[in-house]
Amino acid sequence: MNKAKREGVIFVVSAPSGAGKTTLCRELIDRFADLRQSVSFTTRQARAGEVDGVDYHFVDKADFHRMVNAGQLAEWAEVHGNCYGTSLATLEQAAEQGVDLLLDIDFQGATQLKKNYRHGVFVFILPPNFAELERRLRGRDTDTDEVISKRLKNAEREISEAGWYDYLVVNDDFQTALGELSAIVTAERCRSQRNGAILTELKIKGED
Ligand code: ADP
Ligand code: 5GP
Repeated sequence: MNKAKREGVIFVVSAPSGAGKTTLCRELIDRFADLRQSVSFTTRQARAGEVDGVDYHFVDKADFHRMVNAGQLAEWAEVHGNCYGTSLATLEQAAEQGVDLLLDIDFQGATQLKKNYRHGVFVFILPPNFAELERRLRGRDTDTDEVISKRLKNAEREISEAGWYDYLVVNDDFQTALGELSAIVTAERCRSQRNGAILTELKIKGED
């Protein structure tokens, strides 16, 4: 049987900074060859090792606001003092091509997308506790003390939004969290509402 086309799924993943979202999303993309990462636009400076066009599209504030005013972003938000946004064209192309997309975005952006993409899957990743969150932020060694303090201060507010997400994953043991995320992706792909084309195809074949 030819694989009937399934509609593309948008997986939106949020977490307070340092919870392990980037590391988990990277592993998830490796595990699911047909899951694509949406590359956001940001005004933040690139960290050591980050590549333009791969980790983010790094742009200046003027360019970012030009995109906002031109309606080119499906959502955007200011997070920890920098602007971040998702390209509308990326979402539209993925939907057209039936490609599954993984979006690593904050709760403000997720709230905006929840309104327009009601079939999206919204996952919130939690740290096991605040002490471990701080340990991970410091251990990552990518941010100044000032940036770390700002991110820790924002974490409580971010976690207070977790309740409306479809799924909560606690990233204590990494492999357990990765297994839970993978299970969510697999289960959501199998939802009958997303796979009507398979039933239609089988019915047509049955009538042959
Ligand atoms: P985020 O994208 O949420 O800001 P990162 O993926 O950069 O977080 O992870 C922050 C730090 O925590 C990194 O150094 C990462 O290797 C580490 N980390 C991620 N998950 C775990 C885990 N389950 N246990 C211990 N350390 C972790
Ligand atoms: P970081 O600077 O650590 O890469 O990301 C900081 C925060 O910005 C994270 O919570 C991340 O999820 C969020 N973020 C990254 N890209 C986007 C985006 O396109 N839109 C929104 N709203 N948030 C984003």
